[in-house]
Amino acid sequence: MKVEFYRHALDEADIANVVKVLNSVFLSTGPVTAEFERKFSHYTGLEHVVAVNSCTSAMHMALVALGVGPGDEVIVPAMTFLSTASAVMHAGATPVIVDVDAATGLVTPEAIEKAVTPRTKAVIPVHLYGTLCDMPSIKALADKHGLYIIEDCAHCVEGQRDGYRPGHLGTCACYSFYATKNLTCGEGGAFATSDPDLAARVRMVALHGMSKGAADRYHKLYTHYDLERLGWKCNLDDIHAALLVGQIDRLDSLWEKRHALWKRYADAFDRHPRLGRPEVVGKCAHHLYTIWTDPARRDATLHALQQRGIGVAVNFRAIHLLSYFKDTFGFGRGDFPNAEAIGDRTITLPFYTQLRDEQVDYVIEQVLEVTASS
Ligand SMILES: *Cc1c(COP(=O)(O)O)cnc(C)c1O
Repeated sequence: MKVEFYRHALDEADIANVVKVLNSVFLSTGPVTAEFERKFSHYTGLEHVVAVNSCTSAMHMALVALGVGPGDEVIVPAMTFLSTASAVMHAGATPVIVDVDAATGLVTPEAIEKAVTPRTKAVIPVHLYGTLCDMPSIKALADKHGLYIIEDCAHCVEGQRDGYRPGHLGTCACYSFYATKNLTCGEGGAFATSDPDLAARVRMVALHGMSKGAADRYHKLYTHYDLERLGWKCNLDDIHAALLVGQIDRLDSLWEKRHALWKRYADAFDRHPRLGRPEVVGKCAHHLYTIWTDPARRDATLHALQQRGIGVAVNFRAIHLLSYFKDTFGFGRGDFPNAEAIGDRTITLPFYTQLRDEQVDYVIEQVLEVTASS
């Protein structure tokens, strides 16, 4: 049997929306992107949304718009995708990597507070796999030290914890619509905040630093634009946005299906003495299902599952051990032991709503068999 690592849940209506854009005059950032921004704002409860081409760009633009740059430090967790840290470097600032909680894989308020220096300007908590970080405590310490909070919500659109949601306690939230994310258009992202001035600055720096977008020039009486500051080019276009608008209506029903799948996996694996998994707190957005295996056998287990037709991944190896960060900042093994332990053990299993029952049974059976024989 073949079980792909991921299959999207785009439907005929999503595809028809793209065709509609292709048959229209306007392909770049225009009315469909604006419609997406309105709908996503409604879903997230964050008033201002700026659609961009990736979560990496959203974090980069957020830092630039907040005035974070050379000489400034930004605290990021060691257990995340590498671009949480590289976005900080794109802004010219220094990422200060800290360890995560051994049970959840989430950055803790204690680790953040220990890393604060007079140069610290911001922190980027990552809601890993879809579980929200302890945001009330992070907000309290950010207020105390005057830090911005940029939430990396690449895994967490639908999550909730103790009554708060992504982006609601932070300065802003950054989302990814990359190919394997819960809400996808291949490549895309969004910045969201309740601060209208910050959103306007992000919109400007994400489009060259120009005072007006092309849609303004096209749809209204022509007015000249100006270049107000040096910016970047990371706006989302209507072709991609067309894939997103309809998916927003299905986010909750897709979450219900992933939640049922999460329970099936957890029921099957939690009893197994040699398998662990990250602890989940509150309503997890359920982006990825990861298991923790024997570190000495992790790669062999990965390969055995692949040989049995099962798509797998590693989310993530601790980022301070990736060559570029290791060499640039002089990190070594032992610096962030909890993140290293997760990175050495973890395997991500196929986890999406298009999985058929017999595929789920097959994954469970093969994981148990491979683990028992290792
Ligand atoms: C996918 C991911 C990103 C990057 O998203 P892009 O849209 O590909 O830039 C950032 N952070 C985390 C935790 C991710 O998983």
